[in-house]
Amino acid sequence: MIRVTLDLTCSICDHDQFHLPVRADERQQVRCANCTAFKCYSADLEKAMIALSRDRKRRSGQGQANAA
Ligand SMILES: [Zn+2]
Repeated sequence: MIRVTLDLTCSICDHDQFHLPVRADERQQVRCANCTAFKCYSADLEKAMIALSRDRKRRSGQGQANAA
């Protein structure tokens, strides 16, 4: 497990640090580092993070004119 701070908060204790699984053969669960409540599957989290970074890139676009 690795401990990371995410742009998420635990729905139970409001903590923003989570344990991520590192071994591929572990059940890919993300758990709160404080109360160990189950948060989500890391695959879902990965998708969420990708969507988030994509969204951020779009918002801070480096003057790319006429994206449509
Ligand atoms: Zn928690």
